[in-house]
Amino acid sequence: MKCYYHPDREAVTRCVKCGKPLCEKCVRKLRKRFLYILWKDYDYCPACYEKEMQKLIKEWREKRKRT
Ligand SMILES: [Zn+2]
Ligand SMILES: [Zn+2]
Repeated sequence: MKCYYHPDREAVTRCVKCGKPLCEKCVRKLRKRFLYILWKDYDYCPACYEKEMQKLIKEWREKRKRT
């Protein structure tokens, strides 16, 4: 399996959102709450990471507005 962005590099993981194979240079880790007390690292491609960050920032702002 080769990286989606680097055809000459071996992929180490896949994006959890779109399933693109990613090499260690392309993978973005995002830590998310898992089962309330545990945190889990999710692998994202740069594009999905951007989108996910935007979403988290938006959610965080909404939360702050309410309180
Ligand atoms: Zn992706
Ligand atoms: Zn790559």
